[in-house]
Amino acid sequence: MSGTDPDLGLFIAGRWTHGSGNRSVAVQNPATARAVGELPLATADDLDAALTAATDAFPAWRATSPVRRGEILRTAAGLVRERAETIAHAITRELGKPLREARAEIGTAVEHIEWAAEEGRRAYGRVIPSREPGVLQSTRREPLGPIAGFAPWNAPAITPARKISGALGAGCTLVLKPAEETPTPALHLVAALEDAGLPPGVLNVVFGDPAAVSDRLLAAPQIMGATFTGSTAVGTLLLGKGAPTAKKMTMELGGYAPVFVLPDADPEAVADSAVVATMRNSGQVCTSPSRFYVHADLHERFVARFAERAAALRVGDPFDDTVQMGPVATEARVSAMAELTADARSRGLTVAAGGHRVERDGSFWAPTLLAGVDDDAMIANVEPFGPMAATTPFHHLDDAIISANRLPFGLAAYVWSNDLAAVTRLTDALDAGSISVNRWQASLPETPFGGMGASGLGMEGGIEGLEAFQRVKYVNHR
Ligand code: NAD
Repeated sequence: MSGTDPDLGLFIAGRWTHGSGNRSVAVQNPATARAVGELPLATADDLDAALTAATDAFPAWRATSPVRRGEILRTAAGLVRERAETIAHAITRELGKPLREARAEIGTAVEHIEWAAEEGRRAYGRVIPSREPGVLQSTRREPLGPIAGFAPWNAPAITPARKISGALGAGCTLVLKPAEETPTPALHLVAALEDAGLPPGVLNVVFGDPAAVSDRLLAAPQIMGATFTGSTAVGTLLLGKGAPTAKKMTMELGGYAPVFVLPDADPEAVADSAVVATMRNSGQVCTSPSRFYVHADLHERFVARFAERAAALRVGDPFDDTVQMGPVATEARVSAMAELTADARSRGLTVAAGGHRVERDGSFWAPTLLAGVDDDAMIANVEPFGPMAATTPFHHLDDAIISANRLPFGLAAYVWSNDLAAVTRLTDALDAGSISVNRWQASLPETPFGGMGASGLGMEGGIEGLEAFQRVKYVNHR
């Protein structure tokens, strides 16, 4: 492995700093429960300095041609690719994601940056036929302004990459607060952009007490938009904080993806691939397939195979290439898994696999399947965001659709069937921002990704991902 990690710190106005205060927080390796670094936290003065830097840098960055902005982003993407192994190790060390998955995450993060670099050049407006001769009516898409961004810990390279490249590619400046649990991958992105020639102040990265940081950034009138990925509870709080200054907000919030396994599906084949998809990143993925509605004729076979495969997963040190699942990110996730399992047991539900902590240092939970769940169980209503799935047998598809749609979330959904009529019925009826049929792929850099209802507002990725950081101006003249 070549390369070194940047020092843990803040990046404000083109300078690396430990901030003006003396508060810091330990960064932990969840696979060992040991501290792996000390992260300095921003003071109110540091946040103000970041706000000023983003505001001051905006006019020149806005005036920079999209071609030049794209060049800087593409150069940075190349540097991230060169440094992939170092960054992947940082992901695994701070999050516990198996190294193999961490490497794949870097590849996707790079693709996001490349997509935004290209798409920023296509901020097309349109000409609208006028009612009168000699009048030209047109629209243009302009950069929104300085942006505040908040990224969580579960995809510590991809999510910051999406927010940074989307904002910068559209011509905005950004103050980003990545997750304090997993700071290093975002700092690598900063270093790559700095090395690629990004002007000072265009990107600023701060860490701190999350509520205090969002209070300050979202109250600032000079911040024109915000982008957040995380829970619905926090996202709606941030919407409130941004409301008095009428900020344009993109919210990627929690999901709880239903999966429909229809009578014509092969239950063993679906279970085999489902275990891999569900337990990826220890299930800490907002699009994780985790509520399985399985036709009653297939339910028993599906549960047996899923449980067998889940129990056989090798859980352990995420740096070990033979390991298939690492720890969860924090003890909070272990507690959440324990609570969901206890509720299931108290209702007499079948714990077909797992259902317990893995006894070793660190925050490990065994891959778990709760089978035969009805709508009253906690697991039927609360997104696990961990290595856990639930099955519910159904006889009539419409009953399963009603059950799936009754939750306020609508992020991803999956369907396994070749019955065209049933697939069409599902793709029409499901409240979900992304529906995948006979595959588990929910989003790519070039496809729009976002939720309905409590799963969020706006989109990341695709053409829509740039629009989140743009405003539309209508101009008409004679
Ligand atoms: P959380 O919403 O509390 O935290 C997510 C991120 O938001 C963290 O990085 C945190 O630093 C930040 N945050 C928390 N409070 C904040 C505030 N007041 N202002 C600004 N930022 C703040 O979620 P969690 O408890 O860490 O994770 C579990 C839940 O979060 C899951 O149930 C899942 O729904 C959701 N989640 C979703 C995604 C996603 O990709 N959509 C990612 C991570 C977490």
